[in-house]
Amino acid sequence: NVDWQGKRVTVAGLGVSGIPAARALHERGARVTVVNDGDDERSRAQAAELEALGITVRLGDGATLPESTELVVTAPGWKPDKPLFLAAAEAGVPVWGDVELAWRLRGQDGREPAPWLAVTGTNGKTTTVRMLASILEAAGLRTAAVGNIGVSLLDAALGDETYDVLAVELSSYQLHWAPSLRAHSGAVLNLAPDHLDWHGSMAGYAADKGRIYEGNSVACVYNAQDGATEDLVREADVEEGCRAIGFTLGTPGPSQLGVVDGILVDRAFVTNRQKQAQELAEVADVNPPAPHNIANALAAAALARAYGVPPTAVRDGLRAFRPDAHRIEHIADIDGVTYIDDSKATNTHAAEASLAAYDPIVWIAGGLAKGATFDELVTGAAERLRGVVLIGADRALIREALARHAPEVPVVDLDRTDTGAMSAAVGEAARLALPGDTVLLAPACASMDMFVNYNKRGEAFADAVRRLADESA
Ligand code: ADP
Repeated sequence: NVDWQGKRVTVAGLGVSGIPAARALHERGARVTVVNDGDDERSRAQAAELEALGITVRLGDGATLPESTELVVTAPGWKPDKPLFLAAAEAGVPVWGDVELAWRLRGQDGREPAPWLAVTGTNGKTTTVRMLASILEAAGLRTAAVGNIGVSLLDAALGDETYDVLAVELSSYQLHWAPSLRAHSGAVLNLAPDHLDWHGSMAGYAADKGRIYEGNSVACVYNAQDGATEDLVREADVEEGCRAIGFTLGTPGPSQLGVVDGILVDRAFVTNRQKQAQELAEVADVNPPAPHNIANALAAAALARAYGVPPTAVRDGLRAFRPDAHRIEHIADIDGVTYIDDSKATNTHAAEASLAAYDPIVWIAGGLAKGATFDELVTGAAERLRGVVLIGADRALIREALARHAPEVPVVDLDRTDTGAMSAAVGEAARLALPGDTVLLAPACASMDMFVNYNKRGEAFADAVRRLADESA
């Protein structure tokens, strides 16, 4: 337990995690200074609110470590090679992220802290965490989906609500800055190159993801069809008795969950006397029942079973689950063409999953590539592409991959990065599409070159599709 009274804490970044962190630390008696790169109207308003409480804020200077700082609490997205962190390392000052702070503050008010069932992976985190929360609720437990979604980690740790157990989504950034986190059980859903510009290398990215297994007490859940996730379990230091539990879309081995004849089954937490596979739910109970989503459901089921949830709650929770917007969301059918919004496909691994689900496809792609290459994605999808419409900053990378691996596919390069480009892209896609085709927004890139976030990108797509529907009606 930390004695916060008078402790000099520097909070890096005003924003969704920085502001509540600064407030929470200030309330506990810490002497808080917030440093922020930006100095715009919004940050000035936020700064004024914090300053009114007695918190120091330095705008336009996120690089310098304030003198005699004893601890840095950073927004998870700040890159580890920032001068602020180099200065902290040099001065021997520890750096915590928002997750580490929530983890350390939980239970300090005398309440029994809720154990964490934690989920990470390149893709499927939000979906899996929501499925898990739905299953836990079906079991009658007080729970919440926390992390980048719904309730913030700090609110869950410090708020008035009491939880039995939390379903926690953790990004690779958050794990990087959470050295002492010890989950009840953790899952890495899959591992594909993403955010390599931030982590420096695939090895660094994998190592940060693998942190989710460190110190687990009951189960390390891995993807039996993605060997890299199993390697991370092997490398982790866990509590005695903690088990490695695999999930697979095929027939499960011992200590695995899997699928047999359209039924999700559990061979890991078998309670019946015959030690046979325990039936959990039908594939049709998973919404939508696409392969990557069944994998998510199995991972959620594994974590819930590790916590002791009965099979019927797994089934009821999966049935009650509804997917979030912009994740393979059906927008409209116009003149026999289906329009699907998978704006959340912000990397090639996610886009691969949705491109595999349709045929033929008019594909709308492009944005910020984050250091990715597109050869594999394009090769896998080439046969199913009717045409491609490209938008965004790094569209040339996709155009060149198409030229190499699918030279016969027509490509419209819009050469635009303004927000209006989405409407033009939908128009071009509609022109390329034939009845029976699917127009699929699966950018395989981040959105920030053109939009505030992937939500706005998806909304721009859906708005354009609805206008098209009105025109053709
Ligand atoms: P995250 O929170 O990890 O970004 P989401 O559940 O929001 O994950 O899904 C992100 C994107 O990845 C969506 O576009 C979805 O179609 C795709 N996706 C979801 N689950 C998987 C999976 N297990 N493997 C590959 N792609 C997936």
